[in-house]
Amino acid sequence: MSFHAHPDDEALLTAGTLARAAADGHRVVIVTATDGAAGLARAAATADGRLGERRLDELRRAAAALGCGDVRHLGYADSGLNADSSDEAAFSQADPQEAAARLAAILDETAADVLTVYDPAGGYGHPDHIQVHRVGLLAAERAGTRVVLEATVDRRPLVRVLTVLDRTGILGRLGVDRAEWSPERFARAFSAPERITHRIPTARFATAKRAAMSAHATQAGADHGVRTLAVLVRLPHFVFARVFAHEWFVEKGRQPHGPALDDIFATLRVAARDDGSRGTDPERSRWKLVGSAPFIKRRL
Ligand SMILES: [Zn+2]
Repeated sequence: MSFHAHPDDEALLTAGTLARAAADGHRVVIVTATDGAAGLARAAATADGRLGERRLDELRRAAAALGCGDVRHLGYADSGLNADSSDEAAFSQADPQEAAARLAAILDETAADVLTVYDPAGGYGHPDHIQVHRVGLLAAERAGTRVVLEATVDRRPLVRVLTVLDRTGILGRLGVDRAEWSPERFARAFSAPERITHRIPTARFATAKRAAMSAHATQAGADHGVRTLAVLVRLPHFVFARVFAHEWFVEKGRQPHGPALDDIFATLRVAARDDGSRGTDPERSRWKLVGSAPFIKRRL
């Protein structure tokens, strides 16, 4: 189960991993806390007051492109970028325990083994994204979900790329808002490389990821400025596949040890193996496997 704040977040942070899980035969459920109705959009998409409905439809289409047929909406309102949203229905203002109960009910119903949430920073700090982290962890505790993964980005290469794009003036020429994409802004966003436990190869699913991003048509435009998604979906395929060659996660309770794991189900596979082998000390054998990640890579 992949838990998100707004329609389109799943495409940016987790689409490759979800497409891979679906292709491997796993049942994948996407849950969004809000319908994204407070995000930027062209006036034409918001005029009739049905932006939220449109964005949930787009999410269903994006999910279908990834091979995920099950999309749920927790029913909260989008807080927008202001942390001080006074809207009582806003997700960022919701009682975390109450929201966690709603999510835990879906975790129970679907018997989910793995839940993805966001890192504690909420990526770049959107109040709804920080709430996804908080609520997701509480829900997993309630439902007894075995593996919780924070979907994140390794900020070191991100800052490196943005610094180059900034210094060479490419950032300016792309027409994106410099304040939104400045290297300084990302120096504390997402996660430091030392925290990353999973680095999932996703280049093989770049076509599905781009299709998911493209499905979010109302996210690609605004009446002022250029939206990030619009820039990304226009990248040539080989550049797109390079930019999105990996997705990153931090598993709750796992200390990074040796090379990052390349499979979000690795912990479950090790647990299943330990269950089946009598006389093995589970703790020792887990460390053995974690320490030999290339073995996992070969086996897959
Ligand atoms: Zn979002």
